[in-house]
Amino acid sequence: MKNINVEEKINLSKYTTIKVGGFAEYFSKPNNTDEFINLIKWSHLNDQKCQIIGAGSNLLINNIFLKGLTICTKTMRSIKIESNTGIVEAEAGVMLPTMSNILAKNGLQGGEWTVGIPGTLGGAICMNAGSGNFSVANNVLSVKVIDTTTLETYEIQKKDIDFQYRFSPFQQNNLIIISAKLMFEPKGNIEQLLETTKKTLKRKTETQPYDLPSFGSVFKNPTNNYAGKLIEELGLKGFKIGDAEVSTTHGNFIVNNSSANSKDILDLITVIQQKVLQNKGIFLQPEVRMIGFDYP
Ligand SMILES: Cc1cc2nc3c(=O)[nH]c(=O)nc-3n(C[C@H](O)[C@H](O)[C@H](O)COP(=O)(O)OP(=O)(O)OC[C@H]3O[C@@H](n4cnc5c(N)ncnc54)[C@H](O)[C@@H]3O)c2cc1C
Repeated sequence: MKNINVEEKINLSKYTTIKVGGFAEYFSKPNNTDEFINLIKWSHLNDQKCQIIGAGSNLLINNIFLKGLTICTKTMRSIKIESNTGIVEAEAGVMLPTMSNILAKNGLQGGEWTVGIPGTLGGAICMNAGSGNFSVANNVLSVKVIDTTTLETYEIQKKDIDFQYRFSPFQQNNLIIISAKLMFEPKGNIEQLLETTKKTLKRKTETQPYDLPSFGSVFKNPTNNYAGKLIEELGLKGFKIGDAEVSTTHGNFIVNNSSANSKDILDLITVIQQKVLQNKGIFLQPEVRMIGFDYP
């Protein structure tokens, strides 16, 4: 197979924002769509399990040896902007903060809120990342995918994707996101957009623990409530297992103080769930995705 570069026994903790992870049997960082597709074909032909990660900013990877190929899309960074129409076409690995700044510089409005989310576009579509009333799904026009069972590539229109709160069907199906077309409001005031983008980032870094490794919000917000508020009300901010700690800045964040491992973090998640269930009668559903666990 041409155009593929596969490494062996790579430590994945370097590829997650919480700095925790096991070892990948095979690992690759494709530079473009062709290389990406070739890698997926390689894993299929060699009967290898294929795991996709973006920026690893919503991931808890178990400290184990992960069989098969792990592909990190972060190096697939092509992005095309049509300033007049507001249509953007970007590869899965484009980082949201990069995209947010490019949008503002081109006068495209509606992507300012993404600036503080340290994930890739593919990861954001898979997670339907969002903030307040905004979510990536609102801007998606279509998604180009590859089916890992048939190796067919095709485009799915937004109307055929059942996006929900922090959920997309890509969390469950055999489709891998290659690229996407998005739509933003064209001809905005560039100065104002740059200012809003800057202020949004400032607000996020002041209210969330950006100074320590984390994976963003651990739990989804329950209906008409906030996971962070429930956790804070139980006095769990600052509660630790090993080097994993419930952030003192934001109750819905777990931070890695230095050498937390995946067990510390999973144990902390479980304790929080138990305490919130016992005291508030609410089961907190993790937002963070788990790899290498028998988690339901
Ligand atoms: C400091 C901080 C702040 C955050 N703030 C927010 C926030 O405000 N709002 C929010 O929603 N999230 C937030 N997050 C969480 C995270 O950044 C988002 O969920 C982000 O969209 C995940 O993107 P990623 O590239 O890191 O995905 P990863 O964590 O690498 O992967 C997440 C999931 O997507 C899948 N995936 C990744 N790429 C593809 C692909 N190409 N095709 C198919 N599946 C794929 C993975 O297999 C995995 O299941 C925050 C995280 C941090 C660390």
